[in-house]
Amino acid sequence: MAMQNITEKEIRLAIENDELVVYYQPQYDALTGKLMSAEALVRWVRDGEVILPGEFIPLAEQSNLIRDIDWYVLEKVCVFLRKELEQGVSLRIAVNFSRKHLDEENLISRLCQTVDKYSLPHELIEIELTESAIMQDISSIVEIVNEIRENGFNVAIDDFGSGLSSLSLVKDVSANVLKIDRSLLSGNCENEKERIVLESIFTFAHRLKLTTVAEGVETREQLGFLRTCDCRMIQGFLFARPMPEEDFAKLSSQPESAQTEDILLTQPQTSVTNLLMEAIFYKYPLVIMANLTRNSFYMMAYDNFSSKSCPSTGVFEELIEHGASTMHPDDKESFKRTFSINSLTDAYNRAEKSVTLVTRQMGDDGIYRRVETTDIFVKNPSVDDLLVITLCQNLED
Ligand code: C2E
Ligand code: MG
Ligand code: MG
Repeated sequence: MAMQNITEKEIRLAIENDELVVYYQPQYDALTGKLMSAEALVRWVRDGEVILPGEFIPLAEQSNLIRDIDWYVLEKVCVFLRKELEQGVSLRIAVNFSRKHLDEENLISRLCQTVDKYSLPHELIEIELTESAIMQDISSIVEIVNEIRENGFNVAIDDFGSGLSSLSLVKDVSANVLKIDRSLLSGNCENEKERIVLESIFTFAHRLKLTTVAEGVETREQLGFLRTCDCRMIQGFLFARPMPEEDFAKLSSQPESAQTEDILLTQPQTSVTNLLMEAIFYKYPLVIMANLTRNSFYMMAYDNFSSKSCPSTGVFEELIEHGASTMHPDDKESFKRTFSINSLTDAYNRAEKSVTLVTRQMGDDGIYRRVETTDIFVKNPSVDDLLVITLCQNLED
């Protein structure tokens, strides 16, 4: 249906006729997959057809009509939360407040009155203000957000990163939630610059004690990357779309274990990493992390590899001496030469990705076995040091 000819009057009528309904889009804990909260999103159901806010909110925002819509949505959310509380379910719901409220008289008292009418704890309500609204009038917004927060409500900065984001905004406004706009999450986060920008946003947000919510998460790859950034909450089609109240009520009343059935989606990043390490150690009983710039190393796994035990951390050059000491006499020199710091650094500078050598190593039983040693060059983005990961594999038993 063409929506160009929607008029203000029709929207007013829609409010009066109860045609506006609230959909809920769940927000999940990024690590556990647990349902934590939801965002209330308005829909206009006209003759059985669902009209998205993009079709009528811009028009409503040209006048103060948008205020009526937002208060209407808040009221519906309160009615819903009251019912939920009576069922023993307590979830936080975020509602969108247009910039038009920023100069509304009695904003705070109306907010309190509306929520108190349903005897709801204020912390169950989160007010979302979009970044662009906040940018317009930063000094008055600081005061308003302070007041909303002092009254126990949560405040989120919505769509962060969608426009001209200002860091002073995040620093000066006492919001406690930062919603990172989906425009920053293009594709599967495979672009390095994009990842650096996102990592930096999450770092400063967490240092400022803001709860981070990533919006518009659609792929597992995005989720995987967001977890490495310690993103707290996920809102997006990957987990759930905005849904009618009845559907959300059903979802929120399910026991936790039924909420996400995919084990990988519920694995904390650290335990996924541990499982990965286990698989690597299965194939490579000796794994070493070394810093060539600082001539240091530590063992990540060391499983009865040679007849002489070795310190688990120390000086890299001594480690090479130690390795050579249990090697077949004909292999010692080439081993020491290949894995000296100088020749590894040369190989790195020639843009080689790794260095491999097969030698014979004496086991506990005094028998030589062929062992393949591979040094893989790795870079940590935050330091210039040259790092290698050494993987050793027995070629025969
Ligand atoms: P928003 O507040 O940033 O809400 C998030 C929007 O992103 C929602 O669009 C949601 O459906 C969409 N979204 C969520 N996950 C994904 C995803 O994985 N992929 C994609 N492509 N989209 C996703 P929706 O419901 O159409 O709302 C659009 C905007 O309209 C909202 O953006 C908000 O600014 C405004 N809006 C909605 N309800 C209200 C309201 O009650 N009051 C006010 N003032 N504005 C509202
Ligand atoms: Mg929003
Ligand atoms: Mg948003």
